Amino acid sequence: MNPTLKTWQHELTEGFSNVKELCNYLDLTPSQYSILHSSEFPLRVPREFVERMEKGNIDDPLLKQILPIQDEEISFPGFNNDPVGDINAMTETGVIHKYQGRVLFITTGSCAINCRYCFRRNFPYSDFQLNTQKLERAIQYIKDNQDISEVILSGGDPLLLSDRKLFSLINRLDKIYHLKRIRIHSRIPVVLPSRITNDFCQFLSTVKKNIIFVIHSNHTNELNENVRSACQKIKKCNVTLLNQSVLLKGINDAANELVVLSEKLFSFDVLPYYLHMLDKASGTHHFEVDKKTAILLMDQIKKQLPGYLVPKLVNEQTGALNKIVIA
Ligand SMILES: *Cc1c(COP(=O)(O)O)cnc(C)c1O
Ligand code: SF4
Repeated sequence: MNPTLKTWQHELTEGFSNVKELCNYLDLTPSQYSILHSSEFPLRVPREFVERMEKGNIDDPLLKQILPIQDEEISFPGFNNDPVGDINAMTETGVIHKYQGRVLFITTGSCAINCRYCFRRNFPYSDFQLNTQKLERAIQYIKDNQDISEVILSGGDPLLLSDRKLFSLINRLDKIYHLKRIRIHSRIPVVLPSRITNDFCQFLSTVKKNIIFVIHSNHTNELNENVRSACQKIKKCNVTLLNQSVLLKGINDAANELVVLSEKLFSFDVLPYYLHMLDKASGTHHFEVDKKTAILLMDQIKKQLPGYLVPKLVNEQTGALNKIVIA
């Protein structure tokens, strides 16, 4: 087989999961930094993503998103394991019904990459695994609630499901009369673009409901030619393509970075949607940007960008009936 034609599943197994190996590859000496060598939320990163990092640079904005460090072990008041009240909002296994008309569906607990700032990094996925019976119940819940107009496939990353499972699920949703839209929230086009196969795109083209695909990129350096071609393939299937980012200290908390990110996304046919304030999951405190700084950043980027390239700065509050728009 042509070695350049590896499957995405193969690429996934070849990613880094060992901190020492990652440091060796990037010419970093692990002993110099306060690296965390074992964590319940382990290192996981595709090689393709690592190749976009600068060798020898411990402050690389992509590396900082995935490298476990000792700061994660410090606990802070207000930071906990269920920062946005997902568990109380679960109406059936996997189905989080917080907002009117929309349900979020946790299809899998796995991701291609483990982002250290993830708000679901401590989520007890194993308690909420879907089996055939639970999947039926979840779909029944959506069928029974006629005011649901949109299902958001989330996770984990829904694109880590096999084609068979993913297509079957979407096909079943596509047949539910009162649903208007199917939304996919996935970091895959950015971190493992080879997953966006021709088969996947052909399938998307057959779906009758409107599809919204929300990718997740935080920094321009993530956006290389492979990502561009994945986005453009998705776009060709008549899909609305949006991006959400998380505002992260030391990674993208600079106006010029946010400006070039929006511009690059647009050149990939992707519109900025949300810029999230960090959700306060335990272990993520060192990424927090305070509200005042965030609002100042928004003021600066608004001056430099057309309105359609300015993401909405939002945060999520337990119990609120929608995401809170800050700016
Ligand atoms: C973010 C989120 C949504 C979607 O909210 P939008 O503002 O429509 O993007 C839906 N359900 C849950 C539980 C969410 O966290
Ligand atoms: S891809 Fe998304 S869900 Fe997965 S670890 Fe990263 S932020 Fe969390």
